Amino acid sequence: MTGAFHEVSDRVWVSRREWLDTTAAVIAGQDGVLLVDTHGSTRAGRALVDDVRALGIGEVTGVVNTHWHFDHTFGNRAVLDAYGPVPVYAHEEACAELEKFGPGALATRAVVGHPESEGHHEEVGETEIALPTHTFSSVRILDLGDRQVELVHPGRGHTAGDLVVNVPDAGVLIAGDLVEQSGAPCFGEDSWPLDWPLALDFVLGMLRPETVVVPGHGGSVDLAYVQEQRGAIGVVAETIRDLAGRGVRVEDALGAAQWPYLPEGLGHAVARGYQHLPRSQKRLPLI
Ligand SMILES: [Zn+2]
Repeated sequence: MTGAFHEVSDRVWVSRREWLDTTAAVIAGQDGVLLVDTHGSTRAGRALVDDVRALGIGEVTGVVNTHWHFDHTFGNRAVLDAYGPVPVYAHEEACAELEKFGPGALATRAVVGHPESEGHHEEVGETEIALPTHTFSSVRILDLGDRQVELVHPGRGHTAGDLVVNVPDAGVLIAGDLVEQSGAPCFGEDSWPLDWPLALDFVLGMLRPETVVVPGHGGSVDLAYVQEQRGAIGVVAETIRDLAGRGVRVEDALGAAQWPYLPEGLGHAVARGYQHLPRSQKRLPLI
């Protein structure tokens, strides 16, 4: 199930990495090979490169980072070491977040406090971060000769700088952590819970019923799954609006409503949502 790449559609391969069940994808065309996401450390990136090489499809000519989080970008250095200074594409906000670590900065703080990454502190600490080299704000098209790949920023959601990778001729969309399959969607302290449903509406507009959707974690899903996840994330957003509109204090919000996900995972969602609400939608004083 984890490790080796398998072909999900014509010349599009997906791998589920054991650590965090993070996905990586390879898209090949006549004129190039793109690697989407590089896993969580230089060491993990090297293992990923080995699995890409095992496909026997030639050299990687470009890298895409779906968002800045370590488990999708910290393997960049290993890929550049293996294939030379190929372009690394990301949304401009994703690059700005990664820059905060500084090139070559020791990166352990990205994983401290993540129980699932307990055994990986050392390799993350040894990681040298390689920043994206090519950024964009809304859309970027990459030409692989006989096929085009679209990088699209559908709006803020899991982070401020998420992108999805659309391969229209293959019927594949790589969604990064805007969609998760192995667990609930992750609302971190950099998430945009009120915007996320709208970003997914944009993504849904790019899908057909038969499109293979590759989530940031877990196994591939389809349009119906994304609709359902959009619905649940929409409930989170609407619940936040409702509670704030009724004057419920942010610290009481988690206990004051029914949530579609475990409340333990929604602390940041509520805090961020309250922060992002326009003043007119908060009843003051919040009692
Ligand atoms: Zn992730």
